This record gives sequence, C-alpha cells and structure tokens, in this order.
Amino acid sequence: MADSAGQGQLRRFLVEQHPVRGHHVDLGDAWRELRAVHPYPPAVEALLGETVAAVVLLAATLKFDGRLTLQFTGHGAVSLLVAQCTHDFRVRAVAQYADEIPPLADFSTLVGDGRLAVTIESGESGGRYQGIVPLDGDGIGPCLEAYFASSEQLPTRLRLTAQGDRAAGMLLQRLPGAAGGEAVAAREHEVWDALVRNLDTLTAAELLQPTETLLPRVGGELDCRLFAGTDVVFQCGCSGSRVSDMLRSLGATEVRDIIREQGNVSVQCEFCRRNYRFDAIDVEELFAGSPPSAPTRPN
Ligand SMILES: [Zn+2]
Repeated sequence: MADSAGQGQLRRFLVEQHPVRGHHVDLGDAWRELRAVHPYPPAVEALLGETVAAVVLLAATLKFDGRLTLQFTGHGAVSLLVAQCTHDFRVRAVAQYADEIPPLADFSTLVGDGRLAVTIESGESGGRYQGIVPLDGDGIGPCLEAYFASSEQLPTRLRLTAQGDRAAGMLLQRLPGAAGGEAVAAREHEVWDALVRNLDTLTAAELLQPTETLLPRVGGELDCRLFAGTDVVFQCGCSGSRVSDMLRSLGATEVRDIIREQGNVSVQCEFCRRNYRFDAIDVEELFAGSPPSAPTRPN
C-alpha cells in the first residue's frame, strides 16, 4: 500500500484521442482530520469516507461556484449522511446512525430504501439545483452512476474505497464524441468498455495507490494525460457570525428564554464539533443591532 502520509489530492486525466476523462482522489489528511473529529462505527465510517471521496469526484466533473452536497436519507441504520465539497475542494461530512450497527453491515442495511439528494448551491447568485435518485444500488457508486445517467446523460463509472484512515476513489466519464460514423462509434464503445472493465477489476488497495501507478492499470495501452494535482482539505466553514445569524433568525424571545433557563446559549457545529457559546451580554448585543465585539468563545 502507498505511503499514507500527505495532503488530500485530486488528479484529473484525459484519454488522448478518445472522449473519456477521469479523476482520481486520495483524501489523505482531509479524511484523517475529518474522522478524528467524530468516531463512527466501522461500517458507518467506511460509508462516510466513500461518500466524501464521491462528493469530491462529483465536484470535479461539475462547473459551479459554491457548494455541492450529497445527502442520504433513509430508513436503515444510517438515518442521515451529509457530505459537502466546495468548488475549491474544501470538504466536511457528518452521519447520524442507530445505536447498534453490525460491523459488516452492507449498503442496503445502512441506508435502507432511502434517497440520495445531490444539491448545488451557488455562492454568488444564491441559485440552487437539486436532483434526487433512489438508493437502490449496491453502493454510492451505482447510485451516482444512476444520477449521472438521468441528469447529465453521460456514461459514468465510479469506484470508491475507505479503509481505516485511507479513503480514495476514481471516476471515469464518457463525453459526447465527435461525429464519425458507425465504425468510429463502435471503436469508442469498445474503448469505453475496456476502461470500465479495468476500473472494475481494481482492488481497493490499488485505488489507494498514487495516480501515476494506478492510471496504467486503467488505461492499459491507451495514452493517458495526467494533470497536476489539486489539494483537497477538511475545512468546515462554520463561524461565529453564522451562528449569530442563526440565533437572530430564532428570535429574541426564544434566545432570551434559553439564557433564563440555562445561563448561556451553547451551539455545537455538527460537522466539526466546535462549540460556540453566548452569554446574556452576548445575546443582548446580538439583538441590540450593535456589532457584537466578541460574541463567540470556541472552547
Ligand atoms: Zn463547523
């Protein structure tokens, strides 16, 4: 297995002379930092790691400026799973799950007959797009392949793995080819099938190898062009001012009630577990409309 140290990396590649592109991600430290925040049962952790790898690969194929969210909701042992990736590859994720999780729980046991929502939020325009697919595949990969088939109409293949402190994935996508008659179309079909076969036969350990090692296994005789890597980092994006906004939207009456009952208002970010605490003075500043000097005290 490859050296596990290092920053998360996303690598893009093209198959020369064929309308196929791909991405390989090794989440590296982004995954190690994310899983350190919140210990999960092994089966849930593996699902979370694969979903984070998937959201990065999905983000890599889309043009957007904002945030991409994959959200599972189901009736299985995992009731909710959210993984997010920004256009500049900052990731965060969280899962809610039942008390008892069998260590070898499979995908359908974990997510039940739920659904997967793919949401793109634009930072600047405030625009929002959402696509939903049923969770009826054998894993996140097949679910997302169904998503691509219905929304982008591009044949797409995904392989994902998460094992302990490593998580990685690879995506292949067939782009619309140039017109060239039946013979060309048949040849492109063959090339695509061969690439998919190669990707499908990779072991989980191979998916964790450096892209330079992995790519010849997938590309075979084909000439693949590999581009420079992009960092992928764990960064939550929560902040004191966002929590302040959330409290303002709750309203003065409700927040003052909490102060009366509990002495302070404590809000924990569910993604990174950072605590934001507001005492009576902070709360009055929030609702006086004056800029609060130091409303937050992460502890
Ligand atoms: Zn946070």
